[in-house]
Order: sequence, then C-alpha cells, then structure tokens
Amino acid sequence: MNMSEPRLRTLLRQAEKTKNAGKRAAAAQLYREIVAEEPDLVDAWLGLGELSTDAAEKERAYRQALALDPENVVAQAGLAGEPLPEVAETSEPETAVSPPPPAMTQQAPAVQKKPAPLAEKEDDFILYCYRHPERDTSLRCYSCNKPICIDCANKTPVGYICPECLYNLEEKFFSATKIDYLLASVVSFILSLLAGFVVVNFGGGFFWVLIVLFVAGGVGAFVAKLTYRVIGGRRGRYIPHIVATMVIVGVVIPAFPMLIGILLGGLGALFSLLVPGIYAFVASSSAFYWMR
Ligand SMILES: [Zn+2]
Ligand SMILES: [Zn+2]
Repeated sequence: MNMSEPRLRTLLRQAEKTKNAGKRAAAAQLYREIVAEEPDLVDAWLGLGELSTDAAEKERAYRQALALDPENVVAQAGLAGEPLPEVAETSEPETAVSPPPPAMTQQAPAVQKKPAPLAEKEDDFILYCYRHPERDTSLRCYSCNKPICIDCANKTPVGYICPECLYNLEEKFFSATKIDYLLASVVSFILSLLAGFVVVNFGGGFFWVLIVLFVAGGVGAFVAKLTYRVIGGRRGRYIPHIVATMVIVGVVIPAFPMLIGILLGGLGALFSLLVPGIYAFVASSSAFYWMR
C-alpha cells in the first residue's frame, strides 16, 4: 500500500483533471482503475458515483463511499438521487472554488469534520513542471513534493523523484571527502605504478602474455580494494574513475620508452605493447568494477 500511494494520488488528480476537462467517460474509467487497486478511497468512489452512466454502478459506488464514510453528504445526496451538494453537475473548475454553503454545515454539525473532499484539491489541479514551466503534469516528487514532468521524474520503488532530490540522495551515499579523493588518487597511483613496472620490465615472451592476462583482473581488484580500505570504505561519485585511470597511468609511464621505440623503430616494436595494453584494459576495468 505504501508503495502505490503516490501513484494513486497521481491517478486521483489525473481523474479529476480529466473530469474537469469534460471527458467524463475517461474520468470514470480512471476512477474504476483506482478503486480496483485501492477500494478504501472515498474520493474515488464519489468520483465514480458522479460520473458513471450505469445506474447500478452509480449506486454501488455511492454505497461504497457511504460504507467508508457514513456521514458523507455527497454520497447521501447521490444515493437519494438529489443534485450533489457543493460540486454542481456541470464541472467547471471555478464552481468548486466557491466556499461551501453555510446552510449545510448548520443543519448537520457532524458533517463539518468531513466536507465533500472533492473541493479542497481543485486549486492545484494543473501543475507545471518546476524545471519546464511550459509543461503541465500530474506527477510530483515524493521527496520535495514539487511538480515534475515525466522527463524529469526518476522512478524509484517508493515513487517518482525529481533530479535535485535524486542527486541529494546520492550525495548522502557518496560520503567521501576531498581528502579521501586525494588519498585515493595517491594510493592507487603508487600501487598501479608498481604493478605497471612489473608488467613492463619483468618476464617476456608468450607465457608472459598469458600470465599477465590471467592476473591483470586480480591486480586491478587488489589496487581498488586497498584504496577502498585506505579511504575508510567511503564512496565517492568519481573515485572509481580515478582509480581506473591511475591503473592505466601506472602502466603507461613505465611503457613510455616502448612508445618512443615504436616511433623510432617502426611497427615491428608494436608487439611489445601487447602486454601493457592487455594489462591496462583488463586491470582498469576490474579496478573500476571493484570500486563501485
Ligand atoms: Zn524533489
Ligand atoms: Zn520537467
């Protein structure tokens, strides 16, 4: 129920908006969907009662509303076949803005607590995305309650969230400080440089290609895990990128003489870059993966 609540509120708004636009059949269908999902919403039953063209459905809807709220005057009037109080049969948006007739509340003081709930929502019917003021919408951010259009809405398990709130949510998750960034850069650079030197300057030949291919993933993961330890397990939005970059830099620096060798000696020396190349690709991917 918690999960679907913002969605149902959105659907309710949509239904009222549709009704006010004069599309009564479409609005009735929306109310049907709402009560099918959540049968405890008095407003939805009242909406269906008002809009349904099927007499049996109309009566059932008003009875449901009364069962949930026995003193509801709209439902009472609807069942009695009287014109609905407050909300006139023609549904111009302005009609709802007028205050409730005082006579009604005097007659039945018990009703005061629950005036016809249709009226109070009408003032903010048409919402406009706070980031795209020209777009009307019926969605709201569940966190800050600002209206958002479908392009700005990010779906989460608990409802739609606006980009700002999403960013703030992520920022709480990313707790790394500037010092953590600095530490992560230095530590991953040193470790990567050591590994890079071994890769470039030791071994050689075909077996060395296989060995490097085999251990590169583990080396990348090792650099990432140790860096993660050093910064106290805190996470940063760009720390995985930094660590992966350092792994590449760490092998490019010792391989630099080879690059010059290729420039001088031609393509024949290209093979010597195979091992550092494989290592850079596998180890940096692995470091990035482990850091996330
Ligand atoms: Zn928000
Ligand atoms: Zn928008």
